Amino acid sequence: MTIAPRLPGSPRSVLVGLIGQGVAPSLTPPMHELEGARHGMTYVYRPIDIVPDEATAIGELGRLLAYARRIGFTGLNVTHPVKQSIIPLLDELATSARQVGAVNTVVFEGDRAIGHNTDVTGFGSAFDRTLGSVPRDHVVLVGAGGAGSAVATALAERGIADLVIADVSIERADALAELVRPLSSGSVRGASATEVPALLAGASGAVNATPFGMAAHPGMAFDPALMPDGAWVSDIVYRPTDTALLMAARDRGLRTMSGLGMAMGQAADAFEIFTGEPADRAAMTQDLKNLVAREAAVSPA
Ligand code: NAD
Repeated sequence: MTIAPRLPGSPRSVLVGLIGQGVAPSLTPPMHELEGARHGMTYVYRPIDIVPDEATAIGELGRLLAYARRIGFTGLNVTHPVKQSIIPLLDELATSARQVGAVNTVVFEGDRAIGHNTDVTGFGSAFDRTLGSVPRDHVVLVGAGGAGSAVATALAERGIADLVIADVSIERADALAELVRPLSSGSVRGASATEVPALLAGASGAVNATPFGMAAHPGMAFDPALMPDGAWVSDIVYRPTDTALLMAARDRGLRTMSGLGMAMGQAADAFEIFTGEPADRAAMTQDLKNLVAREAAVSPA
């Protein structure tokens, strides 16, 4: 299809969306639209909810991709349950998506659909910015699901001598360790969740990539009181921003990183892929804080 050229002086128009299950409450659409407005664009970001059954979702996904391209979408974000099943429908994968074997951002370039993974780059840049100088001898990642896979990929590239990935499913932990091992200059192995307390005693840092800490999953996946002095803790949960884990870690005197940086980073990186313009990351962080606070005020935990 041919899109009519933009008239001189008229705002650039960008149409994007988020395909996934239960995406209506996502804060990514307002984050993008606020950033687009700052760039003087007419920026429209639509959540597109798909059916819960993955097999049916894959058929629907193919049709949605074809129509999105035909209607003139610039690109799409995709999330659970189609981050992996979308891959055969794409023409090319960026390094981030190839490494983790999952896609969360698709951009249409000419007649090609290119998959990226900005969860990987989002966590990686947040880590570099917030915890860039922390010790990395022994790091424990708890949770080997979708988000944990992106975190493991980013961590594996960051010079960690011994990365242990723990999950209640040891098979999932082992599979993720195997996937990211080639990216690491150190050792990477899987572990069961029952090993976590013993692992924490010698850990330089630990990351929570389980749902523990969200309003619907109160509590902590691990206890930072078990960690040595000088250790650090990162939580990728960001709704709420101050999780029980981060508060306990700060009480213990440990350095912390919240999930806001990853959430902002994945959106900012996707915005840049869609538009080719640099995102204002400080403004996007403030937008996200405001959105999370507004959501908490409307539906307190
Ligand atoms: P998921 O369900 O795919 O994975 C969660 C994993 O945690 C599963 O493998 C599960 O077995 C494991 N797990 C659960 N309890 C555990 C425990 N006690 N010990 C060890 N492992 C345990 O979920 P996901 O998509 O990976 O998301 C996880 C959380 O990450 C979400 O709840 C969300 O809050 C957060 N998240 C944050 C961002 C961000 O940008 N900051 C992005 C995506 C997800």
